[in-house]
Amino acid sequence: MNIILLGPPGAGKGTQARILEEGYGLVQLSTGDMLRSAVASGSDIGRQAKEVMEAGQLVSDEIVIGVIDERLDAPDTKKGVIFDGFPRTVAQAEALDKLLPQKRLSLNAVVEMAVDDDLLVDRVSGRYTCAMCGEGYHDRHKLTKEEGVCDNCGSRSFTRRPDDNAETVKSRLAAYHEQTAPLIAYYARSGKLKTVDGMADIDEVTRQIEHAIRR
Ligand code: ADP
Ligand code: ADP
Ligand code: ZN
Repeated sequence: MNIILLGPPGAGKGTQARILEEGYGLVQLSTGDMLRSAVASGSDIGRQAKEVMEAGQLVSDEIVIGVIDERLDAPDTKKGVIFDGFPRTVAQAEALDKLLPQKRLSLNAVVEMAVDDDLLVDRVSGRYTCAMCGEGYHDRHKLTKEEGVCDNCGSRSFTRRPDDNAETVKSRLAAYHEQTAPLIAYYARSGKLKTVDGMADIDEVTRQIEHAIRR
């Protein structure tokens, strides 16, 4: 099963992708994570992406499509993938429509996670992540069981993204509405679109996604 999680920054794509990875044996393909590791490693792609990401704009289609094309050749993608944060433009969606059959893969569903803009600033500005295992948390909505200790791996080291500030979120939301939201109509036309209420609590969103992908 191959699915796309589509939604604005802070909608809960990464949170749900990790839950689905575990429940269904799928592999999360987050272009944001891939680009952040390229930035951290100082590769050519990382150097080109760094400032664009810090400004809350979209990295070029060419770079992102290249990264996904290469990633889809790894054998673990045969288990099924969850695209998290890709595609983000109509050009990326069209490229994916060409890439998937070349790699003998097909798309089962596109799950739109609908969240109002005013909630997203709070979601993104309270977000932090375990530096060891990547588990995501939130200052108010998803606390660690023991303060300062990751539930998943016991680490005490956490990170916050440089682009997760109220100012940059505005640019990211503008980019979402201008460049990514048209994908909702794009996938509605293909009959693959399912919409869930991303404003519900985390467990309820998981239930709605499971229902949507089983149909
Ligand atoms: P995305 O990958 O779409 O940008 P995340 O999964 O990182 O979003 O979620 C953004 C923040 O909101 C994180 O801090 C996460 O813990 C929190 N969060 C995710 N889903 C929910 C939810 N349904 N209700 C409240 N907070 C949530
Ligand atoms: P979020 O889910 O919170 O929006 P991501 O981790 O998916 O954040 O993306 C972080 C940044 O990485 C984006 O603001 C953008 O600069 C870049 N990026 C990630 N995925 C893509 C993509 N498919 N196309 C273009 N830029 C991307
Ligand atoms: Zn951890």
